[in-house]
Amino acid sequence: MKTDIQIAQEATMLPIKDVAANYGITEDDLELYGKYKAKFSDEFMNSLDEKPDGKLVLMTAINPTPAGEGKTTTSIGLAQAFEKLGKKSVLALREPSLGPCFGIKGGAAGGGYSQVVPMEDLNLHFTGDFHAITSANNLLAALLDNHIQQGNELRIDTRQVIWKRCMDMNDRALRNIVIGLGRKVDGYVREDHFVITVATEIMAILCLAEDIKDLKARLAKIIVAYDVDGNPVTAGQLNAVGSMAALLKDAIKPNMVQTLEHTGAIVHGGPFANIAHGCNSVRATKIALKLSDIAITEAGFGADLGAEKFMDIKCRMAGLKPDAVVLVATVRALKYNGGVPKTELVAENLDALKKGICNLEKHIENLQKFGVPIVVTLNAFETDTEKEHEFIRQFCEERGCEFALSEVWAKGGEGGIDLAKKVLKTLEEKESNFKVLYPDNLSLKEKVETIAKEIYGADGVTYEPAAEKMLAKLTDLGFGDLPVCMAKTQYSLSDDQTKLGRPEGFDIHVRDAFVNAGAGFVVILTGAVMTMPGLPKKPAAFGIDVDDNGKITGLF
Ligand code: ADP
Ligand code: MG
Repeated sequence: MKTDIQIAQEATMLPIKDVAANYGITEDDLELYGKYKAKFSDEFMNSLDEKPDGKLVLMTAINPTPAGEGKTTTSIGLAQAFEKLGKKSVLALREPSLGPCFGIKGGAAGGGYSQVVPMEDLNLHFTGDFHAITSANNLLAALLDNHIQQGNELRIDTRQVIWKRCMDMNDRALRNIVIGLGRKVDGYVREDHFVITVATEIMAILCLAEDIKDLKARLAKIIVAYDVDGNPVTAGQLNAVGSMAALLKDAIKPNMVQTLEHTGAIVHGGPFANIAHGCNSVRATKIALKLSDIAITEAGFGADLGAEKFMDIKCRMAGLKPDAVVLVATVRALKYNGGVPKTELVAENLDALKKGICNLEKHIENLQKFGVPIVVTLNAFETDTEKEHEFIRQFCEERGCEFALSEVWAKGGEGGIDLAKKVLKTLEEKESNFKVLYPDNLSLKEKVETIAKEIYGADGVTYEPAAEKMLAKLTDLGFGDLPVCMAKTQYSLSDDQTKLGRPEGFDIHVRDAFVNAGAGFVVILTGAVMTMPGLPKKPAAFGIDVDDNGKITGLF
């Protein structure tokens, strides 16, 4: 089997204007970034208001192995399969972060014969959205430190600055730094921090904003620091909103690219799935709905984090209603959940599968709580055996759950026909009675408890004193009605990544909390969360090169 980059580079792309034309989009509606990438013009996006929406399908997964279980790959393959069945389908996906490409993570543009292209561009600079976000973030940081330097009229407590600088690079040395060293004109000395661009609140805001007006309103609400009396200081008070919005005016426009089979893909925004909600932009999803019969979108991590936040944060805010959910399982992740170590996942092991399948069962039960019909799909790997596939199929069918084997990684759209037919049948026959898990007016603690008990299967929630204090303070400040955004390990339903399968008899431990007032959610931290990754001993960067003709190799 060829590598992803080999497959991607051998593909013949269509000019993006031709791909767009298949969806009734004219060249005038596009702002071209070269031949194969485009943004949609504002006029075009506004002109879609009257058009009816297609159906919305969410792609999610069981608790994964560290390698990822193929949500992006399956999304792309499913969209390609719909096209083969004569249904218009458009993807709405996240933009990959550049930094992790040079570490261990690998690409995020799908895999095998289900990829979006041009994959090198997507994984590296793309249309510059992340650079714009980085610039806006760092402009705010510069304005904040300048405010302190110029007399600190807002009485910002330099020990309580929340806003961090950012960069789209895995660079652990920047996690904790000291700024302002030198002479008086060089600023006030204080401890500062860098996060990776996808972890910034600006990224989350860009992904939730409906339009430029909403973007500005959200930017204004960002809390950058607390003053010496403990009151929040906002980006609006620093007079930073107009200039930040100017930097973001193109970044807020969704990007269109294509799959290997020329299906339209709108790839826009990419917030973290732990301290943020982990979904592509609301605008991308809404356009995908306008352009297609069936829009397919993905939420990061497993369904306990990704799907829950998609429903409770993104759908709640944007008024979106998913019509079906596709839950991706793999033999390797089920075996992993059954206690098999990472290194032994390729060998057939029906006992481990039987032990680990309770993880799939719990995710099915969880998704039913949102009232949306479910299709389970098994993302086939070459190392799987027939017996393993049959066991999982039977398990799903015994529970009245639609099931389809997916071979989109090896075969592209052709390998997703069965899945596409099952999803179509579900969309036609089963009604979605979508509801969020909890109402706005529950207290922050009640919201956390609802998620912990209903979704994670916990007995209860314990809070460290810092978290207790912060949740009380945020409630006093008027943020009690916001949804919560759980930051938790993706490897377990619990907050302990060693508890696999379907853990029972545990509590969720909340360590701390903070508000992203612009994005509009309260982040609940349950363990240490890495917001600036580092590089491994042998980073992927060592294997990446570009030849004399500009052709990139080694990008996985
Ligand atoms: P997710 O979106 O769930 O994180 P991805 O679709 O990005 O997962 O897939 C993670 C990695 O696994 C990618 O490198 C992809 O190429 C690979 N992969 C996905 N499905 C398969 C498969 N069926 N066989 C082999 N590799 C696969
Ligand atoms: Mg993905």
